[in-house]
Amino acid sequence: MSIKLVDIDKYAGFCFGVTKAITSAENELSEFGSACCLGKIVHNQIEESRLEKLGLRTIGKNEMQTNPPSRMLIRAHGEPPSTYDDAKRLGIKIVDETCPVVLKLQGLIAKTYSENPDCTIVIFGKKGHAEVNGLVGQTDGKAIVISSLEEAESLNVEGKIALFSQTTADFQMYGQIADVLKNKHSDVEVHETVCGSVKNRVPRLKEFCANYDVVIFVSDEASSNGRMLFEVCRAINSRSYFVTDADDLQAELFSGASSVGISGATSTPSWLLDDVRSKCCKIMGDKI
Ligand code: SF4
Repeated sequence: MSIKLVDIDKYAGFCFGVTKAITSAENELSEFGSACCLGKIVHNQIEESRLEKLGLRTIGKNEMQTNPPSRMLIRAHGEPPSTYDDAKRLGIKIVDETCPVVLKLQGLIAKTYSENPDCTIVIFGKKGHAEVNGLVGQTDGKAIVISSLEEAESLNVEGKIALFSQTTADFQMYGQIADVLKNKHSDVEVHETVCGSVKNRVPRLKEFCANYDVVIFVSDEASSNGRMLFEVCRAINSRSYFVTDADDLQAELFSGASSVGISGATSTPSWLLDDVRSKCCKIMGDKI
């Protein structure tokens, strides 16, 4: 058996928000020899380890308070206003790499909150996720976060609702959640806030997956969009496999296959996709 085709999805790899943050970290590292980021710069442990070897240090909120760095990167997910206040008080120079799409959403939520004091702000997203914490922070912690249809069904609020989603949320489920709330409440304003970099990948990924015998999806388990996009692959191609790196690949995965498509999350670096492709070729003993 030989594999005739091993392709990498041309739409896979970092989105522009992650590219911008990683480039900034690399610039800091080359200028200062080390850099510090509040929280993991990307939801991919392998890329994180590569940057750590170059001198990137990841700190949490506690360490920021107890051992403040002189300069600190804010990653693409963004932060609530309290983090900026703390950094100012502690004399930390912020290198702000909040993704422009997240920044726009933060501004929209902050504006809605300040202009409509009687409106309940509801955010569909993962509770405790860094981006969601940054969004809730725009409302003095008053926004309600829901993560499932069940929570939308049991939501009990009076008056107007403004609904937003985390940028990397499952947009199909977001639509269902909007419908549930609109059926229960007379005044619901739905904001389309799923990021195009994630949303547009879904139809493209469906098309890509249908063209191969086997699909290898490369992502870290911690990536929200990675899990969502992998489910898209699996729904189209039952021979879709989730791997974190080339070491997860076993020859049995390719049994009887003559074509392999490789894709990944918006937090999966291109070099890792290339590694996975090389290993696929090596396993099959082909020069492709
Ligand atoms: S997925 Fe979208 S919002 Fe999130 S970092 Fe990438 S470009 Fe920005």
